[in-house]
Amino acid sequence: MDRIQNYIGGALVAPVGGAYLDNYEPATGHVYSHTPASDARDVDAAVAEAREAFPGWAATPAGERARLLLRLADLIEANLEALAEAESTDNGKPVWLARQVDIPRAASNFRFFAHAVTQFASEAHAMGETALNYTLRQPHGVAGCISPWNLPLYLFTWKIAPALAAGNTVVGKPSEVTPLTAYRLSQLCLEAGFPPGMLNVIHGTGPEAGAALVAHRDVPVLSFTGGTKTGAALARTAAPLFKKLSLELGGKNPTIIFADCAYEAMLETTLRSSFANQGEICLCGSRIFVERPIYDRFRDDFVARVEALRVGDPRCDDSRLGAIVSRPHLDKILSYINLAQEEGGTILTGGARVHVEGRCRDGWFVAPTVIEGLAPDCRTNQEEIFGPVVTLMPFDEEEEALAWANGTPYGLAAVLWTENLTRAHRLAARLQAGIVWINCWMLRDLRTPFGGTKQSGVGREGGVEALRFFTEPKNVCIKLS
Ligand code: NAD
Repeated sequence: MDRIQNYIGGALVAPVGGAYLDNYEPATGHVYSHTPASDARDVDAAVAEAREAFPGWAATPAGERARLLLRLADLIEANLEALAEAESTDNGKPVWLARQVDIPRAASNFRFFAHAVTQFASEAHAMGETALNYTLRQPHGVAGCISPWNLPLYLFTWKIAPALAAGNTVVGKPSEVTPLTAYRLSQLCLEAGFPPGMLNVIHGTGPEAGAALVAHRDVPVLSFTGGTKTGAALARTAAPLFKKLSLELGGKNPTIIFADCAYEAMLETTLRSSFANQGEICLCGSRIFVERPIYDRFRDDFVARVEALRVGDPRCDDSRLGAIVSRPHLDKILSYINLAQEEGGTILTGGARVHVEGRCRDGWFVAPTVIEGLAPDCRTNQEEIFGPVVTLMPFDEEEEALAWANGTPYGLAAVLWTENLTRAHRLAARLQAGIVWINCWMLRDLRTPFGGTKQSGVGREGGVEALRFFTEPKNVCIKLS
């Protein structure tokens, strides 16, 4: 059985305390590897190595930093199949999805920020003939990068790539629920010839390894993606230490469908925006508001399409949904389905576990679930479920849909379906979300600002925003006469 190792100072090492966590394959429900249960001692060692490597890496010309990151991108692509299989085994998502989305995107993250840093510029402010100000953008030092389990390599690299490109060294902590591809990445870093200490990867739980990284006095900048409660806990530790903090948190995203939409495209995309990756994407739309004239037609067509989605072994190409990431998360999703019924909701389809035959007979599968008849302010419609569960609600007026869409503590993404251009712009400006997709979903340009408002986060990732986050602006003022 595979024993995952930490990556510290350019070497793969066991945790100091010698303790390991069980790592489960969601599709079978069985332990298939062991993950270091690292603690503060491992974090200390990683931060010390990262600190030592920092001056050399920060002084490395941007073009040379880019060259190393591009080499890693090439290696990710060369290992596409093995990484896709690892991601699927670890997370439960279909292999085809990891092959098409997760792993290519991890390579793109390195490629994108490698190129971006060679184009990164800072500002100058001339004061006539009196003085000239220019802004230096210098890396902070050791960056802490903490990521969740839903898009494991994709989101881990989304942080690491800009942090390294900007000249920081990094201590990364992937989710203990899905550590495997971060471990494979550290093996590829050795092959790429990364300088020791430039990137370090510590495996372990949030409360042990994660908290030690957050509290570490030699880590001045933290980039975190995960749940809103965890983000609040991080902020409580980081704020009195005056750390720079980026928080990408939970969501409860609305999909608003008007009667004048391009119906087929909407239906097809709404199926994906509801259930891609078992609904375990922070950007999935879980509350679907449909204009009343097409509500019945949409409900019937949507339910028919959902019933045709095959839930099964993630290794099979015809499995549209794979397994739920963990037993506790499965229980959480099922408890919300129960709650929805207690709150008066009607399950139109799904609503229960799916039992898959063969090697997956003990796996954690849930049928894609569609619920109607709930009020917009009930708990089911207010709290993040993060699984294959959506609710349908008819609306009569644009203002009503907008109020419901904005009526949660979250504000990550929103999807709008209409052919009315004026309405699209009007609503886009008023939706409380960091990202608004009009007549599409998950169409991503890595240059755009990415992040949430309200309890969905603080700060923005992506493009120049990420490079700005991972650098400290310093103004230099020169008197000219
Ligand atoms: P989580 O908050 O439980 O864990 C995220 C990471 O934080 C893990 O690596 C975990 O070990 C670590 N962690 C946990 N407690 C910690 C602590 N006290 N100190 C430091 N680190 C700690 O989240 P999860 O269950 O892994 O992921 C699901 C959540 O992530 C959902 O809420 C989802 O919406 C959110 N998410 C948000 C985005 C986004 O871009 N906004 C993207 C993906 C997922």
